[in-house]
Amino acid sequence: MTTDRGSIDYRLQAVRQQIINAAQQVNRDPKDITLLAVSKTKPMTMIREAYLSGQRSFGENYVQEGVQKINEATDLGDIEWHFIGPIQSNKTKDIAQHFHWVHSIDREKIARRLDEQRPRESGPLNVLIQINIDDEQSKAGIALSELKALATFISKCSNLRLRGIMAIPAADASESQQKSSFAALYKAFQELKTTHPNVDTLSMGMSNDLDAAIAHGSTLVRVGTAIFGARTEQN
Ligand SMILES: *Cc1c(COP(=O)(O)O)cnc(C)c1O
Repeated sequence: MTTDRGSIDYRLQAVRQQIINAAQQVNRDPKDITLLAVSKTKPMTMIREAYLSGQRSFGENYVQEGVQKINEATDLGDIEWHFIGPIQSNKTKDIAQHFHWVHSIDREKIARRLDEQRPRESGPLNVLIQINIDDEQSKAGIALSELKALATFISKCSNLRLRGIMAIPAADASESQQKSSFAALYKAFQELKTTHPNVDTLSMGMSNDLDAAIAHGSTLVRVGTAIFGARTEQN
């Protein structure tokens, strides 16, 4: 425990408290919400600080950077790595070999390659289907209307375990637009659960929309800036 306001430990404690408060507002158990620390562009020293503060799940967007960090962190036994960035098909092998989770599957081809390239001894790769909920040109993800077919495909891949869905709602959405996007995602998540028993994860909410996402049933929030500070690049 530290009281240095700039430290990662301090910032993590603040985010944890924010999650607890947001959950209690809507009578949810804070334990049902996982905090994913998004460490993209941030150095290994910061990841180690977060780890020492008790953080175990980390999210990376770029394959090369992520794999490099994973290889540097082999002494951190129970650390869990999530790939959350757009996936190019020539990068699936590195993802399948090194990560524990993938949030950004948006087509059969990527699912098939990850399934084929996942080393059996690593156990199934946990995967989420990315939904482009606000139908933005610039974002990866499928429409909700395509979810059922892709989920069915993934459920037949023996080296993948379908755990749920992920979305990044539009940053410039109005409050009512944001609410309806979160609500649509929650509904899709509930429906998916009825047909796919391993589904338990709704990955939505970032530094700026954490509270609203939790109010709408998020089970995993992806937080970068609020823990590690602003990033220099726009990404
Ligand atoms: C960068 C990123 C985040 C973290 O965003 P912050 O606003 O820094 O909390 C979350 N999810 C995805 C997919 C990201 O690319």
